[in-house]
Amino acid sequence: MSYERTIGSPCNSTAGGGRAQLDSESGTPRDRLGRALRELRVSVTDRCNFRCTYCMPLEHYSWIPKREILSFEEITRLSRLFVRLGVDALRLTGGEPLLRKGLPELIAMLSAIEGLDEISLTTNATRLVELAEPLRRAGLRRINISLDTLDPARFEALTRRRDLDRVIAGIDRAVEVGLTPVKLNTVVQRGVNDDELVGLVRFAVERGLELRFIEFMDVGTANGWRLDQVVSRAEILQAIAGAIELEPLGRLNADDPAEAWRVRGSACRIGIIPSVTAPFCGRCSRARLTANGSLVTCLFAASGHDLKGRLRDGASDDELLDRLRQIWRARDDRYSEIRFSETGALARREGKLEMITLGG
Ligand code: SAM
Ligand code: SF4
Ligand code: SF4
Repeated sequence: MSYERTIGSPCNSTAGGGRAQLDSESGTPRDRLGRALRELRVSVTDRCNFRCTYCMPLEHYSWIPKREILSFEEITRLSRLFVRLGVDALRLTGGEPLLRKGLPELIAMLSAIEGLDEISLTTNATRLVELAEPLRRAGLRRINISLDTLDPARFEALTRRRDLDRVIAGIDRAVEVGLTPVKLNTVVQRGVNDDELVGLVRFAVERGLELRFIEFMDVGTANGWRLDQVVSRAEILQAIAGAIELEPLGRLNADDPAEAWRVRGSACRIGIIPSVTAPFCGRCSRARLTANGSLVTCLFAASGHDLKGRLRDGASDDELLDRLRQIWRARDDRYSEIRFSETGALARREGKLEMITLGG
């Protein structure tokens, strides 16, 4: 690898100030807090067949017009440029990425990018029974599936859809075709699904899955987030450890936001992503490309930087690379750390982009 991974917590040590930029013109850019650019999340659509209460704004949202959605060629060209700047992991997301027509074709195009070590996908799994095998054949190796509950009535209340059986069939299909280890993502909300954590771990153990619990976050503007709905890392751990024996594994790699444990006597690993109670902005090396070609440098941003315009105006690769470097070097986002430090008066930024636009 041609650059060093960012470890430690530069946000804590350089609050309000900029660490010296370590990059050269040809290397990976460092942002104002010294963080390298390592991972790209690409939203391939803002459309979704679910209406999850914590994610989907039911009103006040205008869908991105089709003509503005990046083509596969445009996504691939930009991804290749990001890889030249140091990105080695790319995750496709949305909205619901499996709704994007021809997705296996995009995976095949991205798989051909030299220097890209990993392509993964986050999905609600409703279309996985049909698509798992073509995706695997196209080069996808890893998949994250969102599942917050195993209770059909609760599932319907959370997603406003009755597709739990289809989701479980999709999970089983992903395992069957070898997209392993399949990782489940569970957003934990107090009074909604916090009584199901042990059941979800047992479900994961039985099927040979990994499972990551995510603290409920104040993304977007529409989910009515309140701090008292957040079930903290400590509470999640306590709820599980009362019934299941866990062996701590620590952080599996320096950039990983999740701390991991193994369920004793099984291969099942569980993780907790404590975005609210133990923010990890200091290690955040992630950029997001929206479906309409905007580069967003933080999940809680109010706006992004348009790349599509330049792309469609005929910018050269060098011009685009310069723009990407410039945007990354100016980055000083650390929203979760600020939210954390302002206890009581939480930093609630107005007008944040919605999760379905950004790509979760
Ligand atoms: N539709 C796909 C899915 O649900 O997996 C991909 C996009 S979704 C926006 C990506 C991830 O963001 C999902 O795992 C979802 O649970 C998570 N997410 C959405 N809103 C969230 C919130 N308010 N707090 C924490 N995670 C959230
Ligand atoms: Fe759709 Fe995923 Fe958001 Fe649910 S979390 S509404 S499945 S994009
Ligand atoms: Fe990264 Fe922004 Fe989340 Fe901090 S708040 S970890 S900078 S996405």
